[in-house]
Amino acid sequence: MSELNLILLGPPGAGKGTQAALLTEDFGLAHIATGDILRAAREEQTELGLLAKQYMDKGELVPDTVVIAVILERLGEDDARDGFLLDGFPRTIEQAGALGTELESHERRLTAVLLLDAADDLLVKRISGRRVCRKEGHVYHVDLDPPKHEGRCDIDGSELEQRADDSEETVRNRLVVYHAQTEPLIAYYEERGTLRRFDGTRSPTQVHAHIRATLATLRLEEDL
Ligand code: AMP
Repeated sequence: MSELNLILLGPPGAGKGTQAALLTEDFGLAHIATGDILRAAREEQTELGLLAKQYMDKGELVPDTVVIAVILERLGEDDARDGFLLDGFPRTIEQAGALGTELESHERRLTAVLLLDAADDLLVKRISGRRVCRKEGHVYHVDLDPPKHEGRCDIDGSELEQRADDSEETVRNRLVVYHAQTEPLIAYYEERGTLRRFDGTRSPTQVHAHIRATLATLRLEEDL
């Protein structure tokens, strides 16, 4: 069977991270999340991290050249050779073009672009109530999915915190940036026949089941 190369596309708060965790587990894919890579670089205070911080704190995109270089290098690592799931990349047409060129040069292709969508008001509510654990990044929501003990992760007991860019003001800006710079990718991938749409307002379990069914159909079609 051919490799599974997926992109998760959608606004912040649509559930990309949750679906990414489920799908990488299902299919043994390399999970490549630009946001996670940039946050780790910030923690380590590398040159990349210090640069990224200036943009991330305002909810703006880190410049294309920087992000593209990081991701293309990551895609060449061993664990990404048999299939990957990109979460948070591409976010601009330029990034999508660079990814397309890179895949083509290695005779690889995208299996599908999975679009998760939801209305802005729901996204703001979801993100501003989001809390993540310090240790492993397990995700909770103060109202929709609270931990058993306030402020503590159910899984590893570590402290829960709000991501710096999850405050309501920054979230609003991230959504403006999404609509202006990332949304054009919907048409871009639709034209290429790779886009598949999913309703991000449904429960994580429902969305996951829908994605799995879609991927099963795609693979059947491919094998025919
Ligand atoms: P995320 O965790 O995917 O919501 O990303 C958090 C922040 O990291 C974004 O608001 C951007 O500042 C930055 N970022 C993540 N992915 C990209 C990307 N593909 N291009 C530019 N900036 C990005």
